[in-house]
Amino acid sequence: MSETGLPVGADRQLPAPPRVAMLGGTFDPVHVGHLRSAVELCEALALDRVHMVPAATPPLRGEPWVSPGERLALLRLGIGDTPGLVADPRELERDGPSYSADTLASLRRELGDEARLVMALGHDAFLRLADWHEPERLFTLAHVVVIDRPDHQAALPDALVELLAGREVEEGEALMARPAGRLLRLRLPSRMAISATELRHRLATGLSVRYLLPEAVEAYLLVRGLYRHG
Ligand code: ATP
Repeated sequence: MSETGLPVGADRQLPAPPRVAMLGGTFDPVHVGHLRSAVELCEALALDRVHMVPAATPPLRGEPWVSPGERLALLRLGIGDTPGLVADPRELERDGPSYSADTLASLRRELGDEARLVMALGHDAFLRLADWHEPERLFTLAHVVVIDRPDHQAALPDALVELLAGREVEEGEALMARPAGRLLRLRLPSRMAISATELRHRLATGLSVRYLLPEAVEAYLLVRGLYRHG
């Protein structure tokens, strides 16, 4: 018996399960809307880290403008030494379409069954979630956290409403009470109407991108002439 009268070891606290998010994307190129959202997501849910995962071959959109390797290099520069953010190349290391369900399965294998795993995505991407590969499986592997975007407000399609039935919770701690399966919509403090589409347009037409992406990212893509073709 221990001093508390419980069997030895029974009064020892189990370590808290890890809390990890994946923010997947094309990152063509990464911008401060992505980076600031990842930092604020980390704080809002008290996460250990956010894996930012560039898609090699995004299934539901056209070919990205620059190669997966260049997009990863830009992401690494953008993250720099930001605490809590990780540039995760795992989708560049497998062949075929970059399905998020496979990426979450690989994170789940690494982190274990008790980990609180979150798939974060912006409202625009969320609107198409029911069309993704194995949408039900996403919820067996992770929670889904939707980040509000000021430039994307459309209502949810019927198939999505059906997929989400009974999953929504109102706050982060309700989400963190279990490993996966819930939906949370978050309005982060610095909502930013910045998109990679707008950045590509600016770069192609020679307009300034200053302060829309980190300086190191801007310097790298200007020196290499990335996104100069319209
Ligand atoms: P594009 O304009 O090329 O579609 P994007 O700016 O939406 O690109 P993605 O790489 O497609 O960037 O986005 C990756 C993820 O980050 C998506 O879930 C997207 O909704 C989210 N996201 C992108 N920009 C923002 C932003 N400004 N605020 C919050 N989330 C964002």
